Amino acid sequence: MTGKPGEAFPIDYAVRLKSLPYVSAGEVLDRRASLDQLRGRDVIIGTNATGIGNRYAVPGQGPSASVFVTALAAETLLDGAPVTYGWWVPFLVAFLTSALLMRVSRTQLVLGMIATLPVCAVGLPLLLESLGRYADIMPALVLMLGAMGHHAWKLHRQTFDERGMVNEVSGQPNLNALRAAGLDSQDGLIAARIHNYAEAATALPSAAEKELVDQIIMRLTLGNGGCKVYQGDEGIFMWLMPAAGINNVGDQLAGLSAIFRSPANVSGRLIDLNIAFGVDADPGRTIQSRMSSALLACQEAQNAGEHWRVYDPTKLEATEWRVSMLGELDAAIDNGEVWVAFQPKLDLLSGEICGAEALVRWTHPEKGPINPEEFITAAERHDRIEKLTDHVLNRAVQVAAKLNSNGQRFDMAVNLSPRLIGHANLKPMVIQTLRRHGLPAERLILEITETAAMSSADAAMQELKDLRSLGLQLSIDDYGTGFSTLDYLKRCPATELKIDRSFVKMLVTSRSDRIMVNSTIELAHSLGEEVVAEGVEDSETLQLLAQMGCDKAQGYLIGRPMPYEALIDYLASYSPAKAA
Ligand code: C2E
Ligand code: CA
Ligand code: CA
Repeated sequence: MTGKPGEAFPIDYAVRLKSLPYVSAGEVLDRRASLDQLRGRDVIIGTNATGIGNRYAVPGQGPSASVFVTALAAETLLDGAPVTYGWWVPFLVAFLTSALLMRVSRTQLVLGMIATLPVCAVGLPLLLESLGRYADIMPALVLMLGAMGHHAWKLHRQTFDERGMVNEVSGQPNLNALRAAGLDSQDGLIAARIHNYAEAATALPSAAEKELVDQIIMRLTLGNGGCKVYQGDEGIFMWLMPAAGINNVGDQLAGLSAIFRSPANVSGRLIDLNIAFGVDADPGRTIQSRMSSALLACQEAQNAGEHWRVYDPTKLEATEWRVSMLGELDAAIDNGEVWVAFQPKLDLLSGEICGAEALVRWTHPEKGPINPEEFITAAERHDRIEKLTDHVLNRAVQVAAKLNSNGQRFDMAVNLSPRLIGHANLKPMVIQTLRRHGLPAERLILEITETAAMSSADAAMQELKDLRSLGLQLSIDDYGTGFSTLDYLKRCPATELKIDRSFVKMLVTSRSDRIMVNSTIELAHSLGEEVVAEGVEDSETLQLLAQMGCDKAQGYLIGRPMPYEALIDYLASYSPAKAA
């Protein structure tokens, strides 16, 4: 034995007590056992009777008398003196591991380390003990637990911070994350918007939306030089473009548009993605304002049917002007700056001018003519459309009354803002105006856009029927640009379909437009409605329309919108041969 007196050492409890030869003194005295088997051996003598002497709990082997513990201790020493590493070796190992743990930031790595720690903390000492080597692991364990606790708290905080920073469906960083990241003043900010995203996503099983986003982001990253992409709601994506690349932004976005031309394949389904891009390259503003500008540019690109647009800061002035313009609109109506132009309509069967469309004009004393769509939209948005409509309707009905007074039939079309459908004042306004000028209701056509007509609920449809009951005509304007269903067309009390000029423009060259116009004419006729083609600019188109059986035509070829006096001259000098 190598143990030194007075020195403590750990007992190897792996030694089985049953493997040690045991002779009972009682049996020897009764001569039931012989002492011969003990000859030449080291013997430990002790008491084993319950009730006499202490008993100790031996791990894995139950309570045992002190003589057995002594035997185990002796066996341990016989195996060679146990090596004890003390507490500091494991402590040092724990210290180094904890220090390493503090330095790594990747979540998976941290979680992996935290999972392997208990295995090492328990498994390694057990392995060592089986080799007769012992270490005091308590201090190391305390240190490790401390480090793990610290880390768990850090991870918790991190996920807490990340909440609100990632898109819930895809797990991609969202626009909050972009706001938090901020940008270098000279960097460009690009916004991409997939206009049909909502439709595409709702058509997919819910689990597939993430797959769709992953594919979109993969394409964007492929084309944007690997810049980090942030995902907003409803198909909006953004990224920062380093200042050095701004000059090539056009090439990059043209490339990206090409990449998006092929449909995405999600769960075996092919999905067309209609994408447009907006660029903000106007430095020195807050990220929030630049994000709005990039999105605005994106929207403008989409409206104009372009792939991408750069935000133009001078437009901001235009927006401000639009607001101040509204303040001037009322006065402009009263002082005659807002007036009505008339665009003649040709009856294709008789070759005669059969009426006109009233189109509002605003000639601003300083700014000149203002685009009607611009101020009409602004007026609609700010509930100023009623006075404007009243003004146009009054003038249009007044002119129509004059033109019908000499026995000629002349129809006057007036555009009706969708906002006014269902408005309590509309019907009385129409009745009063007709009465004021003595125009038969049949000579008035109210034009409503197809989109407005579409959004009409049953109540609005009733309103249209109500107006129709006055005897006037109803026309569905911009037909073909909205989503009219056959059911809608059947229910709508329209007397006329007005084919949008975008289909008329390409009639001669585009086969699909010819098909669209032809079938619209047939459909309208089968519903007992007349068809007007708008935007006719050349005689070839006019002839084609006549062959197709279109009833009426309107456009620059026949006549531009003109003031009343010019219309009178035009009508006086008009001869059917000119148009044909
Ligand atoms: P809209 O009802 O589709 O009116 C026809 C537009 O096409 C007019 O533009 C007209 O000038 C233009 N146009 C006519 N012939 C041709 C052609 O051959 N080629 C081309 N390229 N264009 C042609 P405008 O006057 O700028 O009016 C734009 C829109 O503003 C109108 O579109 C209508 O929706 C709205 N609008 C005009 N006046 C009024 C009004 O008094 N009240 C309301 N609520 N909306 C109006
Ligand atoms: Ca119209
Ligand atoms: Ca139209």
